[in-house]
Amino acid sequence: MTSRSRPFLENRPSLCSYCLKPVGGLLFRWGDRWYGACSADHLEKIKEDLEINDQFKRGERGVSLKVAQINRAGIEKAVASTKEKYLELAKKNKSFVIHQWERNHRLQLFSQAIKEYLIYCTELANKGLLVEKRENDRSN
Ligand SMILES: [Zn+2]
Repeated sequence: MTSRSRPFLENRPSLCSYCLKPVGGLLFRWGDRWYGACSADHLEKIKEDLEINDQFKRGERGVSLKVAQINRAGIEKAVASTKEKYLELAKKNKSFVIHQWERNHRLQLFSQAIKEYLIYCTELANKGLLVEKRENDRSN
């Protein structure tokens, strides 16, 4: 199996298996499994985890990755910014009831919403959350 075959087109790792950063192009193979890596350095660290913890090549890394927290503002932004797409697809499907749409159209809508959400969260991660101080707090 090569990294150009079908599973990689539809189910390619999108996060680094070491630090959970979005993956560029790096994939690492271990037995029947493939891991995404954000850098050659992290690819090496994933490999080290596996060599130490997984002699049977079952994908046991000996570490637990954290699960991302849901960001409510990001969801609201994603919903708002997919409104146009929703209306366009509703028109095509002659229904505002999503479960009556063609499957491909439902996937398009959710893909766009998730992409918008990830863009929001990536920007937040880059810039940090700005919380303006109130007048009463200015003494600090
Ligand atoms: Zn990484």
